[in-house]
Amino acid sequence: MEVPHPQSHYPATLISGDGVGPEIVDAVLEVLDAVRAPFSWDRQVAGMAAMQAHRDPLPPVTLDSIRHTRLALKGPLTTPVGGGYRSANVALRQTFDLYANVRPSRTLIPGGRYESIDLVLVRENTEGFYVGFEHFVPIGGDPHAVAIGAGVNTRAGSRRIAEFAFNYALRNGRRKITIVHKANILKALTGVFLETVREVGKAYEDRIEIEDRIVDACAMQLVLNPGQFDLILTTNMFGDILSDEIAGLVGGLGMAPGANIGREAAIFEAVHGSAPDIAGKGIANPVALLLAACMMLDHIDHHSSARRIRVAVGKVLGEDKVWTRDLGGVAATKDITRAIVARLRD
Ligand code: NAD
Repeated sequence: MEVPHPQSHYPATLISGDGVGPEIVDAVLEVLDAVRAPFSWDRQVAGMAAMQAHRDPLPPVTLDSIRHTRLALKGPLTTPVGGGYRSANVALRQTFDLYANVRPSRTLIPGGRYESIDLVLVRENTEGFYVGFEHFVPIGGDPHAVAIGAGVNTRAGSRRIAEFAFNYALRNGRRKITIVHKANILKALTGVFLETVREVGKAYEDRIEIEDRIVDACAMQLVLNPGQFDLILTTNMFGDILSDEIAGLVGGLGMAPGANIGREAAIFEAVHGSAPDIAGKGIANPVALLLAACMMLDHIDHHSSARRIRVAVGKVLGEDKVWTRDLGGVAATKDITRAIVARLRD
């Protein structure tokens, strides 16, 4: 979704989410207030909170709000494992056809294994193995004797994510795209993705270096030598897995933001989930969701506010060393939020 000129006022949907969601959303709002971010929030619910309030993980009123604002910031949503309701995250992506998932990762904390990670993963967000075509075949008395799942990748879906990624690379000064696939084994499913992206890439190869890697080799290379990658473009499930791996290279899930972008709407969120093990304790790291809010500011062309927040976060983590527990520190959510706001007022 292109927004031509920065405006002073943007209606946007706000979903606090489950688990640590409300705690990190409060922290992010405090920081956004400090830069006078131009959002006027329409608060809605989804996930477990919506199940409890409306008996529906994705109530129509929430969908209507996003249809109207075309812009949302979302805390993590809990999805029951195995049975229960279908992922509200996946349903949101499919309802609004948010076909591009963008997950940038940068080193902000010095002294880790790698000093200068700066890479972006672009993931096809609506196809592949996450289309949910699954069923069991009962045999004898076992209702789950055989499980069958099918993936779907289309030429059209591969083409539009490829065009998105190449244009993103040009706009954001990226020099190389690595297409990640498993076309040696899943010859049709990921073969069509590889073939189509290569085809689209021909129009860009004078400006962007293009290479491809098999997913397992890429996973290993990310650990051995992440500096060789610049922008990774891949299918839905591989992107889900690799983006958590990449988050691990820069300090963990508490540091990884993401954007889900379609032609009609864009939803910004942290890569991490609802972290039920630490929910309510006031110790969650708000940085991932805050960096997602920065991507949202960039999306509406309020780049200077986004830049100010990123600089403040960099100073708090790199110089002040105010770290939450997931980063090896002792700071509470409130402490790191206060430190970021203080740096913004410097
Ligand atoms: P998770 O990301 O919630 O947690 C994994 C680990 O990372 C936990 O130890 C957690 O404490 C830690 N962690 C995550 N975010 C953190 C933060 N901000 N600060 C400090 N530590 C943090 O993954 P999970 O436990 O596998 O999933 C929990 C629930 O979240 C599940 O229901 C899952 O379906 C859902 N989920 C939602 C999203 C989303 O809304 N986009 C994404 C992933 C998982």
